[in-house]
Amino acid sequence: MKGPILLMLATTTLAAQQASLAVIHARVWTGNPAMPWAEALAVRDETIAAVGSDSDIQKRIGAHTRIVDANGRMVTPGFIDSHVHFLMGGANLTSVQLRDARTKQEFLSRIQAFAATVPPGTWITGGDWDHQNWGGELPSKEWIDAVTPRNPVWINRLDGHMNLANSRALEAAKITRATPEVPGGAIVRNAAGEPTGIFKDNAQSLVQRVVPPPSPAMQDRALDAAMQYVAERGVTSVDHMGAWDDLAVFERAANTGRLRTRIYAAVPLDSWDRLAKTVAEHGRGNGWLTIGALKGFVDGSLGSHTAAFLEPFTDAPKDSGLLVNTPEDLYRWTAGATKAGLQVVVHAIGDRAIRLQLDIFERVEREQHPADPRFRIEHAQHIAPSDIPRFAGLGVIASMQPYHCIDDGRWAEKVIGPERSRTTYAFRSLLDAHARLAFGSDWFVAPPTPLEGIYAAVTRRTLDDRNPGGWIPQQKITVEEALRAYTSDAAYAQFAEKLKGTLALGKFADFVLLDRDLTRIPPADLRNAQVRMTVVGGKVVFEK
Ligand SMILES: [Zn+2]
Repeated sequence: MKGPILLMLATTTLAAQQASLAVIHARVWTGNPAMPWAEALAVRDETIAAVGSDSDIQKRIGAHTRIVDANGRMVTPGFIDSHVHFLMGGANLTSVQLRDARTKQEFLSRIQAFAATVPPGTWITGGDWDHQNWGGELPSKEWIDAVTPRNPVWINRLDGHMNLANSRALEAAKITRATPEVPGGAIVRNAAGEPTGIFKDNAQSLVQRVVPPPSPAMQDRALDAAMQYVAERGVTSVDHMGAWDDLAVFERAANTGRLRTRIYAAVPLDSWDRLAKTVAEHGRGNGWLTIGALKGFVDGSLGSHTAAFLEPFTDAPKDSGLLVNTPEDLYRWTAGATKAGLQVVVHAIGDRAIRLQLDIFERVEREQHPADPRFRIEHAQHIAPSDIPRFAGLGVIASMQPYHCIDDGRWAEKVIGPERSRTTYAFRSLLDAHARLAFGSDWFVAPPTPLEGIYAAVTRRTLDDRNPGGWIPQQKITVEEALRAYTSDAAYAQFAEKLKGTLALGKFADFVLLDRDLTRIPPADLRNAQVRMTVVGGKVVFEK
């Protein structure tokens, strides 16, 4: 009897309290399997006070309640983007924009135009260029030297696995033809052995280490820009994959009440002992800023031909990618972190990389029997068919970015061939094998727009629209499955399912009002859906 009595008391107390915010006449997709749909919800301060019928919620409306009439539109739990590089994304918003530069000429003219706006000597970073846009020829320092004579340039490919330096940046980093290669990376050289300006994976550190760090004020601006940008897209929480220094930026925002996005911040896996000490001394934070996760890397990316595969690339028969860390180190770090009760989150893209990390998780599982490790593989893009059931078997969460699928899908088959493409971004196969999916964007790498991610997972229509029926259509999933991967399962993936991810009594009032019901429109229309309002902790952070 204990349960019902407590529930009754709770209801009576809450009924006496007026809602601060009420949404009525809505199609509320709660994400709660016990009551998947509702008409209305009431918020009191930071949490949800009630979810139910319009008449239930009317009772909680008083003189001080803000009423939002949804007019039959859809409300969902706030989206959780499970993989972002938040400060980089924010910083890039204020830098040169190359993502959609379609030709070499456009690439050059945008860099030239941007360089004219910054003082001489200032480093130009960010960019997010994509050489696939103009047919695949890699840019070089010769391309950009003439348009950037006064500034060092260090601009990244949109996946972050390649960077382009101009000659001024190479001088600053003292890079010459004599500079030796770096394990787990590559310095691209011309026929004469001269660096072209392109640095892949670990070799990026050669230049990165001389790029001046952004000032605290610049970082605060980047964070504010990032929070605003994702709020406009319905994102209320992010899993940030970053560095220790980033924590100071988030803490500053937390302490001054500036946070508008909930942040689960991961730090590098090889620093697990430092995180263990920090957690022991200071705890894991609160609902706004939480630590406890460690991010590692097994391999590079498909677009840079640095993802590690069991067989060579179809278009480069001598090359099967690379590991950016040794299996021994990855095991040692994973074991240490798990023993310390921390969450291990590892980037693995190629089938060899994914298998390697699954093997490590399996071994650690066998050796330690951790109670609830919630291991994650980030990206999990190209899985060998026999490894698909291992995700559910080991309880490994597949943290994937559906937008990459419709982006890479334009050219991936050229790189890995038709056979391996069948279990590429294998959303359907993973769900059918009872694995849990957590969706995200990998922003700055891709736009942090869950509605585009849902469109991508449901339609698999590549960005060039060459696959109207979907690229590898067998791997499509439903709207509600995609929603779960952006809400309740994403909350689970950061140990926060008791606090958020569904719309239920007592959970954080994090939700989104959309302009249409995603479950009642043709899938192709999903990409036209818009966010009308975003609420985090009961506060409206975006509205149009
Ligand atoms: Zn990433």
